[in-house]
Amino acid sequence: MANKYEEMWKRLDLDLTAHEGLLTVLGKFYNDIYLDQKGRPKGMEYLDFVMGEIHGLRIREITEAKASGKKVFGTFCVFVPEEIILAADAIAIGLCSGAEVGNEYAERYLPRNTCALIKSFFGFSLARLCPFTNSCDLVIGETTCDGKKKAYEIFNDFTPTYVMEVPHTKGPAAKELFRYEVERFKDKVEQVTGNRITGDRLLSAIRLVNRRRRALKRLNAIRAADPAPISGRDALLINQVAFYDDPERFTKNIERLCDELEERTARHEGVAPEATKRILMSGCPMAVPNWKLPYVVEGSGAVIVGEESCVGQRNTRDLVDEDVHDMNDMLDAITDRYMGINCAVFTPNESRLRDIEQMANILKADGVIHYSLQFCQPYAIESAKIEQGLEKAGIPFLRLETGYSMEDVEPLKTRVEAFLEMI
Ligand code: SF4
Ligand code: SF4
Repeated sequence: MANKYEEMWKRLDLDLTAHEGLLTVLGKFYNDIYLDQKGRPKGMEYLDFVMGEIHGLRIREITEAKASGKKVFGTFCVFVPEEIILAADAIAIGLCSGAEVGNEYAERYLPRNTCALIKSFFGFSLARLCPFTNSCDLVIGETTCDGKKKAYEIFNDFTPTYVMEVPHTKGPAAKELFRYEVERFKDKVEQVTGNRITGDRLLSAIRLVNRRRRALKRLNAIRAADPAPISGRDALLINQVAFYDDPERFTKNIERLCDELEERTARHEGVAPEATKRILMSGCPMAVPNWKLPYVVEGSGAVIVGEESCVGQRNTRDLVDEDVHDMNDMLDAITDRYMGINCAVFTPNESRLRDIEQMANILKADGVIHYSLQFCQPYAIESAKIEQGLEKAGIPFLRLETGYSMEDVEPLKTRVEAFLEMI
């Protein structure tokens, strides 16, 4: 029987056969990694539903919104201020890039030793597998790492791409540059949507995105409890879905889930027994459906209690100041908030180490596992400094480098198990 969304996918120019193959593999993965977990909170049913409809209902919503005149912006980095997109009554979608697909297409343009995330967004687009990318009116890139920066030049040949300049230091001149870029981005969004961003609209968007961040911060705080009330896999999934679900609806559901988790905590109930080894993950973002390492770590008997990552704490830690009076104030507040993100492309980036230490203490982590994607120089190189710093602080540390392929699951498991035994 034909899938009820087939017509819509056809109109979005997807390769229907390859797409069906992708959904089948994803469904199996999801079953093994997510649905087989014991003692999941009831509130995760919402996330299961969203994932089940990842290329269905949400794409239909977006298609209908586009038909009513709304524009869609795709992003690849948490440096792109979503508030500005929402203030222009447009839709912001974090494009996933978390699976190894279409490598043969991607490698026609990119060197083999390019990080999996960059190859993945080329692969999804060129293999015609991503209805989100194909729904975008404009993709917003950024000059974070060299790989992405150069890749966007080529990507623009397939999908219209606008690039924001993100500085690599955090001094006053860098901040001034990013402030200019925020304003330039606002102009671009106004031009694409045909909607003027007024102060009132921007303030509402700031409040909306802050509400979502607060809900995710609340979730992160609850995870300090022992026994852990939610698995790291589920918490990661929530952070991943935050990038493409409707922000109002998502926030309501996560607040409800947090109520449930707080009740669980009060009853001393968890997903793993008390005193299970607690791990803080740190490093590169894990875009959906990149669940490999959390699966390996929790499959080895530990529980993940936090993510120092852009799909995690780096995306939620700071709010945009709401005590603002005019457009200038708001753009300043947005600049301040975004320039506080501790991405490894910055130099120096000492505050990231402080964040990791603080998270490890608050979440009572027994150790930190640092994850860098193969060929990601910023995170791989920075991990040496993180290791030194955590050693001084007496926090056990394991450094892992891997890609999206499942081939190295067994060797990774061996290393993680040895680490867990050691701590
Ligand atoms: S790790 Fe850096 S480049 Fe990647 S999403 Fe985060 S801020 Fe952007
Ligand atoms: S994982 Fe590293 S190399 Fe890949 S896009 Fe992010 S910062 Fe760049």
